[in-house]
Amino acid sequence: MKPRIYITRKLDERAVAPLLEKFDVRMWDSESVSVPRDILIKEVAEADALWTVLADSVNREVFEAGTKLKIVANMAVGYNNVDLEAAMEYGVIVTNTPGVLNETTADLAFALLLATARQLISAEDAIRSGNWTSWAPMRFTGMDVGGATIGIIGMGRIGEAVARRAKGFDMRVLYHNRNRKTEAEVEHGFEFMELEALLKEADFVVILTPYTPETVGMIGARELKLMKNTAVLINVARGGIVDESALYDALKDGEIWAAGLDVFETEPVPLDNLLLTLPNVTVLPHIGSASIKTRLAMMNLNAQAITDLLEGRDPENQVF
Ligand code: NAP
Repeated sequence: MKPRIYITRKLDERAVAPLLEKFDVRMWDSESVSVPRDILIKEVAEADALWTVLADSVNREVFEAGTKLKIVANMAVGYNNVDLEAAMEYGVIVTNTPGVLNETTADLAFALLLATARQLISAEDAIRSGNWTSWAPMRFTGMDVGGATIGIIGMGRIGEAVARRAKGFDMRVLYHNRNRKTEAEVEHGFEFMELEALLKEADFVVILTPYTPETVGMIGARELKLMKNTAVLINVARGGIVDESALYDALKDGEIWAAGLDVFETEPVPLDNLLLTLPNVTVLPHIGSASIKTRLAMMNLNAQAITDLLEGRDPENQVF
């Protein structure tokens, strides 16, 4: 009998084809609707390998049900949706897809930064809704990006790719990590700062840390108050890193100027999320890595990890 793989989303045929010859592949039949929990639990009970996406909660229940399960291959660089303690306890390997999405996610972060700074979405909407009545001296005026100061919290693979883009815009680049990157400081002129100092100094604050117990709520009311009232906050990491109710208050009260969000505490973002009522928020549906080339590369990494494990090799990108 061929080993069984269960895939929780309908995938592009190009990604699945190489797996079909060697393995018994079963796949949820929708790309945009999550597999119902009862079906996931039933499928995982028969699976040797589970292919997940960041919207799947791979909790203890999944590991308990997966009596044959050997690997969870998570098609994302973040793996906060996987209970690693349970995975270790049940002896299941967990892999992710780092690296291949750096440039694509940095492009999106920068696009969101520019769109938020210059109110691109509201401006476009004015045309489509018939509200472009005349050229107006101060309507849709925003913040300059070129020459401004960017503060990157989480200067890792994607953070550095954003910083390189910022240099192309003649920006001063500040960063905050737990560990300094002295080589990058010397080579590219990036300046390390403690979190508070960075928040006070930056015109654009971009969050790119992983979602961990340490970073949950890292940007709350206190941190937002430290920022300039002309500052723009960009979050392309994970929703829970920013306290959304504190962010709503800060944006409503003018403590910061605007925010651009690709990620939310609850995804898909509920339509009653108060942030959606504010004109100074630009929102995107978690599309950081969404280029055709990159999504296919992420799929290839996932397929390779599963193939390696099921054929007795050590998969790359194990998260512990
Ligand atoms: P990475 O290379 O691991 O970089 C993360 C950086 O965050 C590291 O430099 C790390 O440095 C820093 N960091 C970790 N914990 C910290 C803390 N408590 N305080 C300050 N800095 C901290 O990860 P990456 O590949 O760049 O990805 C970053 C995150 O982006 C992912 O975890 C994922 O959640 C998110 N992401 C989102 C999308 C999207 O579609 N929106 C796409 C890809 C990735 P130190 O260890 O020195 O602190």
